[in-house]
Amino acid sequence: MDYVSTRGSAPALDFEGVTLTGLASDGGLYLPREWPRFSEQEIAAMAGLSYVELAVRVMLPFVGTSLTEDELRDLCTRAYGRFAHAAVTPLRQLDEQHWLLELFHGPTLAFKDVALQLLGRLFETFLARDGGRLTIVGATSGDTGSAAIDAVAGRENVDIFMLHPKGRVSDVQRRQMTTVLAPNVHNIAIEGSFDDAQAMVKRMFGDPALTARFHIGAVNSINWARLVAQVVYYFAAALQLGAPARKVAFAVPTGNFGDVFAGYVAARMGLPIERLIVATNVNDILHRALSSGDYSAGEVTPTAAPSMDIQVSSNFERLLFDVGGRDGAALAEQMRGFEASRAMQLTNSQRQGAAALLSSARVDQHEMARAMSWAWDSCGELLDPHTAIGLHAARQADIAAETPVVTLATAHPAKFRDAVERATGMRPSLPTRMGDLFEREERYVELPGEYEAVAAYVAEHATPSA
Ligand SMILES: *Cc1c(COP(=O)(O)O)cnc(C)c1O
Repeated sequence: MDYVSTRGSAPALDFEGVTLTGLASDGGLYLPREWPRFSEQEIAAMAGLSYVELAVRVMLPFVGTSLTEDELRDLCTRAYGRFAHAAVTPLRQLDEQHWLLELFHGPTLAFKDVALQLLGRLFETFLARDGGRLTIVGATSGDTGSAAIDAVAGRENVDIFMLHPKGRVSDVQRRQMTTVLAPNVHNIAIEGSFDDAQAMVKRMFGDPALTARFHIGAVNSINWARLVAQVVYYFAAALQLGAPARKVAFAVPTGNFGDVFAGYVAARMGLPIERLIVATNVNDILHRALSSGDYSAGEVTPTAAPSMDIQVSSNFERLLFDVGGRDGAALAEQMRGFEASRAMQLTNSQRQGAAALLSSARVDQHEMARAMSWAWDSCGELLDPHTAIGLHAARQADIAAETPVVTLATAHPAKFRDAVERATGMRPSLPTRMGDLFEREERYVELPGEYEAVAAYVAEHATPSA
């Protein structure tokens, strides 16, 4: 299996290469040259597999010769052994049509653990093999940072620099990052928004002053290996609800379009998905793009669902490439236009290709709070704000009554206790394994929102690759 860039001119790489690379050298994102496909019989035969065995089945075609099946199984066993629920991603029924897929049983209480626990182990395996070192740079709106830090803290051969927008992540989210005191972990609070932080990280990948001395790697969902790990739970949920004989719809609280793109990949691999419902908060660039073709970035409005407070959605480029005929040169030009003016129009083929599987909804704070109180009052479930946005979109969507609709529960409610308490009157408690989070020592630096300051900090504190 080899991987090509959405902008058409970077060299093709194998799975190991894309795992260690992040952004392609032409500014694009890597995708498999073609989609592996399972037949209906092959999918039916997956029913009843354990999560780890299912993960091996679904991911193996993407891994190619970079790992043996046994190596992949061993990495999955260790990654998913850290989850607090034996089913890893259990399903929970809300009413006759609606289900929650609980993705928050990992060490840092958000779905990002599903991918990052595996990615940390992939880095370790590949680096040990060829003796390299990796400098991971990442931007987080809250949950990626803690999940990535947990996944690589104390590991040999890796340094991690995590940028978060100062004051715009929840106390629990910040402390989950800043109380990890391992010497290879560097937390940086910057002035500005998540988009500012993400733009700086993207720039580091193309900055010769850094790339000459350090092997820069990514843990954001521009990293292909992350998306592959997320494809697995779409299969897990759909199989439990009757796939491949019955179609299932998914509602996905969306920011950087990684999680929902994994659902798109599952559909391309043959999983019968009725519809993917892309739920945004008031930062609704994706809803505007999917409903009217207008992909133009506005200002970021901070909300109670900070992991969705995003205007520029990196993985959307992967969708545009795949539904728009896989023309790298044309997409490179379209994206250059967007980068210059922060606005672009989707082409007709991009719009039609996306509309065949995806619909979208914009959910404001009142609708989010109503979904939270409905789930609590009618089902006895406390939802975090991101999940509540997904559930509201799921309940509004026009899906036939016999088709199950699964909302991805992307974070544990205790990560966002204030917002949950405002909507329901209940204050969720942290799981006991996190109990002393508020007593632990914190360590981080504050830097201005200027690229030079952040790049200089990384250059000073990272270990050169050779
Ligand atoms: C990251 C995150 C999202 C958004 O996921 P994307 O893959 O960026 O679309 C939604 N909810 C929570 C809780 C998250 O941490």
